[in-house]
Amino acid sequence: SAALNELELPRVVAEDPAKIIEIVDAMHDVVATRLAHPRRFRASQLKALERMLDAHQQDFIDALADDLGKSAVEAKLTEIDMVRAEIDHAQLHLSEWMESKAVKIPLALHPAAAKIEPQPLGVVLVIGPWNYPLQLMLAPLVAAIAAGNVAVLKPSELAPATSIALGKLLPQFLDQRAYAVIQGGAGTSKVLLEQHFDHIFYTGGEKVGRIVARAAAEHLTPVTLELGGKSPAVVMDGSHAAVARRLAYGKFMNAGQTCVAPDYVLAVGNAAEPLEKQLAKAITGFYGKSPMHSRDYGRIVNRAHFNRLVSYLEHGEVVIGGGYDEATLKIEPTVMINVDPDSPLMQEEIFGPILPILKVDSFDAAVRFINSRPNPLAAYLFSENPRLQSSFGDQVRAGAIVHNAPNLHVAVPGLPFGGVGASGMGSYHGRHGFERLSQMRPVMAKTAVVDTLKAIYPPYTWAKSKI
Ligand code: NAD
Repeated sequence: SAALNELELPRVVAEDPAKIIEIVDAMHDVVATRLAHPRRFRASQLKALERMLDAHQQDFIDALADDLGKSAVEAKLTEIDMVRAEIDHAQLHLSEWMESKAVKIPLALHPAAAKIEPQPLGVVLVIGPWNYPLQLMLAPLVAAIAAGNVAVLKPSELAPATSIALGKLLPQFLDQRAYAVIQGGAGTSKVLLEQHFDHIFYTGGEKVGRIVARAAAEHLTPVTLELGGKSPAVVMDGSHAAVARRLAYGKFMNAGQTCVAPDYVLAVGNAAEPLEKQLAKAITGFYGKSPMHSRDYGRIVNRAHFNRLVSYLEHGEVVIGGGYDEATLKIEPTVMINVDPDSPLMQEEIFGPILPILKVDSFDAAVRFINSRPNPLAAYLFSENPRLQSSFGDQVRAGAIVHNAPNLHVAVPGLPFGGVGASGMGSYHGRHGFERLSQMRPVMAKTAVVDTLKAIYPPYTWAKSKI
């Protein structure tokens, strides 16, 4: 927007290795000063982040529309408000999270005191993707601030408007000594990853996740990998309008470019045909007869992803949608059946508005199908049957189990959000983010004035082993 363009040049660096190294070094110096440790500093920076979102909500909405054709309401709900909720939650609980917690001591070690004292890790590198380019940079930042860290943010080059807005606005609200935004693509990431960090928080695809983990190993840096995968939705009964609406909502939000979106449906028994009919109604209900012209329906991020998605349309039979427009990078909300489980459509994460429905004979067959593939970020079951719900949870390994409502678990700050196996490692949101970016440091204290440990010193006797 015009207002944004008038702002002063930010702390933006494009692929200048010397400058990047200088910024990272400066961040380590700041850690040594403990600038970001005090509770008041953390609280002030959370407040500043909130002020930035309040003052520039429209700039971010405009940027997200530029990058992804996101509707204003969707941008507010799924990006800005998600970050606000994380900030609110952190503000409410910060003091409690920061408290050290006393721990019981075995009798033989009495008298002593033991506690767990959360400590900041130091410099956190946050590398983010383009699909929720605001939320997925700022939610990890909330955790980093709450935990008393300083942070370097590397937003995605594929969402340039949002990345540039962040780079311009963040330094105007937050303490520039403690938080920096570095712009650039893979080249910039590479230079960053050669530096030493105290934690790397990466959100994105699995391929780059491996590059990040490999680079982190050189410095023994702990990593959080928030990856994706093919999150399945098992549908037991396809005749309920609400089931179709929820699937359509979870899938077609952000034009399917959501890490936790239902990737495909496993329709059990006769669930497929009624589900198709209900999905058609749900899609029209949401986006009208011409979804590509709906202001509530987004576009594909770029041509490469658009072409990849269009190529999937060959791997089965299109029963709803299937239209696309290269000029606007829009693909209709699409449902496919008779898909080949070995085709790229069913091997790669779809990450677009194409929903394949596969028929399976039974609930057990659905579970076997899911478990024969890499662990997804979420697994959804549409059933009201408590026995099936608990059986699903017992048998399926996924980053999250959600019943009858895709995507929503991400919006609960009290729930840890993250993957397992191929969908990632480590989790965050709320206290889980705070602990992820803290060292939960044990502190034990005894006095040496009276030596209460004589009973365990050498020379050893068997009696001493029985204490
Ligand atoms: P990506 O892997 O292409 O890029 C992510 C980040 O990595 C970007 O900042 C990019 O600049 C950087 N990068 C790209 N190439 C690099 C390289 N060679 N070396 C170092 N860094 C590099 O991911 P994406 O396409 O932006 O995001 C889509 C993926 O992210 C999907 O798989 C999706 O499921 C996943 N995702 C996961 C979550 C989650 O929270 N678990 C959220 C959103 C997206």
